[in-house]
Amino acid sequence: MTTLALIKQHLIDPEICIRCNTCEESCPVDAISHDANNYVVDVTKCQFCLACVPPCPTGAIDNWRQVTIPYTLEEQFSWTDLPKQQELANGGPEAFEDEAESLIAEAHDGTGGKPVAPYTASRPSVNLYNRDKPAIATVRGNYRLTAEDAENDIHHIILDFGDQAFPVLEGQSIGIVPPGVNETGEPNHIRLYSIASPRHGERPNHNNLALTLKREASGICSNYMCGLKKGDKVEVTGPFGATFLMPNDPMANIVMICTGTGAAPFRGFTEWKRRIMPNAPGRLVLFFGARRPEELPYFGPLQSVPDSLLTKFFAYSRVPGQPKTYVQDLMRRESALLSDLVGSKATHVYICGLKGMEQGVDAAFDDICRGAGINWAKLRKDMRETGRYHVETY
Ligand code: NAP
Repeated sequence: MTTLALIKQHLIDPEICIRCNTCEESCPVDAISHDANNYVVDVTKCQFCLACVPPCPTGAIDNWRQVTIPYTLEEQFSWTDLPKQQELANGGPEAFEDEAESLIAEAHDGTGGKPVAPYTASRPSVNLYNRDKPAIATVRGNYRLTAEDAENDIHHIILDFGDQAFPVLEGQSIGIVPPGVNETGEPNHIRLYSIASPRHGERPNHNNLALTLKREASGICSNYMCGLKKGDKVEVTGPFGATFLMPNDPMANIVMICTGTGAAPFRGFTEWKRRIMPNAPGRLVLFFGARRPEELPYFGPLQSVPDSLLTKFFAYSRVPGQPKTYVQDLMRRESALLSDLVGSKATHVYICGLKGMEQGVDAAFDDICRGAGINWAKLRKDMRETGRYHVETY
């Protein structure tokens, strides 16, 4: 009898994938592609460099199967969930899982350090609910956050979980299952949104949470969410995210850099600190980029957060008569403060929002650190490995 050779195959979980394209962008050999339905990996091209694994915001990319006949692209395009690991005659999947783990660790080392949670962070609960078994939340509020004449229609949406356990931490995300099917008859894709409230509720000690959500012109899920009314029921998956979490340390300085709705997790961070340890010595510093003040979510409430709790810098890019300003411009202006902060082991950096800001923010840190005699590439790797540097952009 001939024994077929085992092949390790890298696959993407269509149930968790949010179709943000980061994997396709980060693959150096064009092994990842997509159609209207799914993102898929070409087994004939994938070289296991794992460059796609760290940037994936959900972990959907981090799936592996040991196969004798690899799944074709056509099969992967048609999936709504991942097939289970097949029973194999020649060795169990465990050995392969170990191999995949060590490959992943190596890849993270090669790309500047594996992202880990701050070591003082509370332990998150993840993946408690999925499409087959979602939590059912009730809408308790849905308010427009941006001015009536603003281009961006951004909403603050409060979801209540009633008597279902839905434990979350600041920085985690949830998935929303929009009802209905797409043009090919498949169920609409789950979309992921960052939680904008602290762990013990938008209202303290209530089993609810808030989202900051922008209506996208052709966004099925964002239009569904922005149109919800009080009392409507929503299917929710998650929670997701095990590293973009707050340090549980009164001495920690937290530098938060965001654009647009990327401010969501930082609202949660700020509110948690305000409720639990408003006078802790660690600093909260926010760099927030928006088109105009009218487009800035939480503009009014943010103004009333005292400087003693939150040091804030606003960068506006489209105010008539004023130069276009991005967060990285303000970071350079505040280089003395930032070089002081990143020089301390008590400092954590969080970046959230548009993918495009990542490079500009990194270049700003590089310049600021060079001016202070600090090697930014080395420091960033160290910060990432010690759970002090976190990026969530898409
Ligand atoms: P937006 O209004 O389009 O942009 C916000 C600001 O960022 C604008 O001032 C914009 O300037 C500026 N900007 C554009 N390119 C930039 C760059 N390369 N560097 C620095 N600033 C730049 O933002 P939005 O529509 O709310 O988008 C927010 C993004 O965050 C979305 O892509 C969303 O998916 C993402 N998000 C991520 C998370 C997460 O990762 N957990 C959570 C929430 C939101 P211009 O005038 O030049 O456009």
